[in-house]
Amino acid sequence: VQRTLAIIKPDAVNKAEEIEDQVLRAGFSILNKRWVHLSPEQCSEFYSDHSSKIFFPSLVAFMSSGPIVVMELAKENAISSWRNMIGNTNSEKARAEQPDSIRAKYGRDEQCNAVHGSDSELNAEREIRFFFSRSVIE
Ligand code: ATP
Repeated sequence: VQRTLAIIKPDAVNKAEEIEDQVLRAGFSILNKRWVHLSPEQCSEFYSDHSSKIFFPSLVAFMSSGPIVVMELAKENAISSWRNMIGNTNSEKARAEQPDSIRAKYGRDEQCNAVHGSDSELNAEREIRFFFSRSVIE
């Protein structure tokens, strides 16, 4: 059984219950869950891999604009399973290519795309630690 980190982003927290239902129906266990409102500094740290990207300031502003729901999920092949379920980063493409995906249903564009999913075991570990084993963001 593998673990991954899922985030319901500020644009979709009003659909959190609906999304959590889909997570459970897809066979994931929710090992940990918390609501948190990150500061811009904390968002910059979380997305530090993207710090050189042109969209970084906008991404940080978006992710710190309101509360998010963070979930530690477990399932066989959780990382790829969750990434498949959320669909293309660009919600418009998700609507065209994976109409049943979470981003197709709840995302707006390539930034406001409803959810996050870890993209590797190393990042899943780092991200789970970021939210669930540090006191710094309490
Ligand atoms: P995530 O890491 O959130 O699961 P991802 O792996 O599909 O998404 P990344 O390329 O890692 O996408 O980008 C991280 C996040 O940055 C995206 O989910 C999105 O919110 C934002 N983002 C990505 N590309 C763009 C872009 N071209 N313009 C604006 N925002 C973007």
